[in-house]
Amino acid sequence: MKYKIALAAFLVAVTVLTAARGVRYHAARRASAEIRRTPLTLIVDPGHGGEDGGAVSENGLVESGVNLDIAKRVDALAAFFGVRTVMTRESEAIEYSANASTTRMRKTEDQHARLALIRASDSAVFLSIHQNQYPKPGPFGAQVLYAGTPGSAEFGNTMQTALTGALNPSNRRAASRIEDNIFLMNHIDCPAVLVECAFLSNPTEEALLKTELYRLKLAAVITAGFLQSRAGLESIYTAQ
Ligand SMILES: [Zn+2]
Repeated sequence: MKYKIALAAFLVAVTVLTAARGVRYHAARRASAEIRRTPLTLIVDPGHGGEDGGAVSENGLVESGVNLDIAKRVDALAAFFGVRTVMTRESEAIEYSANASTTRMRKTEDQHARLALIRASDSAVFLSIHQNQYPKPGPFGAQVLYAGTPGSAEFGNTMQTALTGALNPSNRRAASRIEDNIFLMNHIDCPAVLVECAFLSNPTEEALLKTELYRLKLAAVITAGFLQSRAGLESIYTAQ
């Protein structure tokens, strides 16, 4: 386990340093203006869970489990880099109240519980982990979606650049604004992105998602994307 964290931390550092070369000048100029910093709470959200498995690949790989595994790695890595983190769930099982008698009610209850957790966190930044699916096998590549709140678009663009650069430079996707029917991403007040890591419907990516190394790589790059955005996200709260 130790060598895995070391390897992942190394991947994070390489990704952050590679990106940092281009922004060093701006960062140096900005540093003098940053007198105090607000520590963020990174809310790591493994999408779906409980009765909601999310997407399922043709071979039966279930999205919620993949999301949880990557999210746990992001949580561990971010903590390794000194970030305060909270996870919206830590297992595949979710406890529902007796009042929630239908699947729909249980899903709604879970979404509201996650929303309450985000709202109760100081200087929150929301990071939701998902896998994509398409009716045809062709589409591939990470896709970042961002909320309409201040700081989200910048966070999303940085995250997309980190993922594309480190995982698949031929990915032509750009970060884009999330659709308004995604409950959590549209009911929060904090900066937020949703990362669709890969396509369960693409055989190459589905095979990669089954491997520990690719999950570790995804977690490392996602953590790096957050660390690159950290100062900008902190300044949103510091300015308030
Ligand atoms: Zn999903």
